[in-house]
Amino acid sequence: MIAENIAALKKTIARTAREYGQAGNVCLVAVSKQQENVKIDEALEAGQRVFGENRVQEAKERWAERRARHPDLELHLIGPLQTNKVRDAVALFNVIETIDSEKLADALKSECEKQKKTITCFIQVNTGAEEQKAGVSIEELPALIEHCRAIDLGIEGLMAIPPVDEPASLHFALLKKLAADHGLKKLSMGMSGDFEKAIALGATHVRLGTAVFGERITQR
Ligand SMILES: *Cc1c(COP(=O)(O)O)cnc(C)c1O
Repeated sequence: MIAENIAALKKTIARTAREYGQAGNVCLVAVSKQQENVKIDEALEAGQRVFGENRVQEAKERWAERRARHPDLELHLIGPLQTNKVRDAVALFNVIETIDSEKLADALKSECEKQKKTITCFIQVNTGAEEQKAGVSIEELPALIEHCRAIDLGIEGLMAIPPVDEPASLHFALLKKLAADHGLKKLSMGMSGDFEKAIALGATHVRLGTAVFGERITQR
């Protein structure tokens, strides 16, 4: 069933990208947080290699051993990162999508040097200026990008989670403009409910959880 979901989603993703004239591949990040391990293994068997997790500890438990079996995995951290978890995060993840402060950027840079690892980084932008949401404010984004460039922490793109009560497309368009303003090429935006809109507006990465795996287990 998971294999079928992935195949169908990849078709939809490719068709939507074509329809809207988006060049290049749109990457399907399968969000495996709070999903049963049997489903993760089904996805792996189906050839899926890019996964997203929002908690470092949960990801470590799930992926440490699977990572050894699949050296070609690409793990994305899509949840907030505390500086005390940076060491584990650098050890486990290939892509960190949620940089939102200079302090975190500095910690990541020095940990990458310590572990001699290169990590792909995105900055998370709080496009809806929501108090409870992670991400740098639009106002503070230019300074954060500048800081990351100054310390030579390569930032490849921007990531956002639109407010639930506003049209997602507005936020996707805004994120695209912010990325273009700063010469950033990658855009992680769009989830199960709105990924086609996100692709229409230039997403390079869509983060799909329930569309791939079904409902999450809410209690852990
Ligand atoms: C959980 C999560 C997703 C996946 O959400 P679905 O609606 O299940 O596709 C995407 N992005 C982030 C940041 C998430 O935390």
